[in-house]
Amino acid sequence: MAHALDSARFWARVRFDLMGCWIWLGGRRSGQRNNPKAYGIWRYAYTKSVSAHRFAWEDTFGPIPEGLKICHRCDNPPCVRPDHLFLGTQKENMADAARKGRLNGRDCPSGEAHPMSKLLIAEVFEIRRRYRTGTTQRALARTYGVSRPTITAIITGRNWRCLEPEKIKSFVGRSAARRRAALAITG
Ligand SMILES: [Zn+2]
Repeated sequence: MAHALDSARFWARVRFDLMGCWIWLGGRRSGQRNNPKAYGIWRYAYTKSVSAHRFAWEDTFGPIPEGLKICHRCDNPPCVRPDHLFLGTQKENMADAARKGRLNGRDCPSGEAHPMSKLLIAEVFEIRRRYRTGTTQRALARTYGVSRPTITAIITGRNWRCLEPEKIKSFVGRSAARRRAALAITG
């Protein structure tokens, strides 16, 4: 298990997106540094390096059983939110990827993320502010490169429940048990 300090540092490097994913802000796999959809890499204890989503799983649930993979329910590789991750065999992984229609030879499904993960929380606030001051939804959609219904959802507060900064705050520096409780993960 990771040292508590590593754990606190890890969870402090995560931001929310609109679908409730927790996006890893640290490093990416080499050669993937500018790819926002690449798996994250977490370097800790000076010499150790692990996939960010695997670290997230282990730090929350304990060691990953040998031979098993950590997959994303949300199909969003840089996401490290523990309840978006699940244990699977290679076979289950492939089946999951095939079901999602994007089997690309990698060990977990990747591909386009959900449409709303493009926006940062700061942009959400900005969109709401601009709308209040008279910018049309159509113009906002164009500016931010998202659909008009997405803008409507942001303005009307649908999806807002996904933005739970308090939840991530409650992760930093807490025990694994407290973090599981914060996500209401049982078992
Ligand atoms: Zn996610």
